[in-house]
Amino acid sequence: TTFIGASFGGIAEMYAQIQKAVGATERVFELLDETPEKINTNSSVVVEKISGNVAFQNVSFSYPSRNEIQVLKDVTFTATSGQKIAIVGPSGAGKSTIASLLLRFYNIDNGEIIIDHKNINAYDLETLRGNMSIVPQDVILFGGTIKENIAYGKPDATEAEILQAAQQANALHFIESFPEKMETLVGERGIKLSGGQRQRIAIARALLKNPSILILDEATSSLDSESEKLVQEALEVLMEGRTSIIIAHRLATIRNADQILVLDNGKITEKGTHHELLNLENGIYKNLSLLQFNHN
Ligand code: ADP
Ligand code: MG
Repeated sequence: TTFIGASFGGIAEMYAQIQKAVGATERVFELLDETPEKINTNSSVVVEKISGNVAFQNVSFSYPSRNEIQVLKDVTFTATSGQKIAIVGPSGAGKSTIASLLLRFYNIDNGEIIIDHKNINAYDLETLRGNMSIVPQDVILFGGTIKENIAYGKPDATEAEILQAAQQANALHFIESFPEKMETLVGERGIKLSGGQRQRIAIARALLKNPSILILDEATSSLDSESEKLVQEALEVLMEGRTSIIIAHRLATIRNADQILVLDNGKITEKGTHHELLNLENGIYKNLSLLQFNHN
């Protein structure tokens, strides 16, 4: 992990580099927490538990390194506590950027991000990120045992809690098939896990952490159908009772979302439930939907 500690000049840039190189991981996020630079402000609200109301109000944003390109344009949406909000749209539309802003890797240029009726900037970063988990497309585990990787979400977790989380995440079965079970080493020097197995470890970690806000960034898009089923099941358990922002490629996984946002070139062009969007003549969602379901 030496490159994580290296300075690229600002945590935002550093995060971007790492995300480009290896995909976003919660481990990276939490390491970055320890590097308060740039974004450190007079954050002061320390609350134990955020309840998970999230609103973007006319948010516009450009990356500091590419000031001339507006990546998000006047983005507005609301998720009340416990709702599932899906974001779909072409690659490069700005979906992952929304996730980065929620985790406050960058400050926005215009508009407001509101969490539980307060501006996101009012929260202490530890409070903010302590109440969020992200499951990315490509989960990177750190060198250590499976148990350590799961318990990372809650360092004081008991053995029983870790086992329960692994079980709920559909991970216990494969973990127990290894001779050393929970003590199995993973990461560069350890056993090589499949993408779906790594994701289930990340889901177990998130279950232990028990966040009120969950971000799934194309969490099932690179899996074969067998492991997709196991991961999808585990994600359903994880999403229960939490505000979930689901960035998805495959529309089948988001049909029952409370609200679907279509993001195109930084702008929300359609907003509604699956049925509402299917009724939009010439809608992007409708067209995507026809394409995908005809081929399945
Ligand atoms: P999506 O997740 O929808 O594929 P992203 O949010 O990753 O889209 O990217 C939106 C736009 O922002 C793209 O044009 C992308 O090249 C650009 N972008 C993403 N990350 C960075 C970054 N760290 N620095 C500069 N530009 C970026
Ligand atoms: Mg993305």
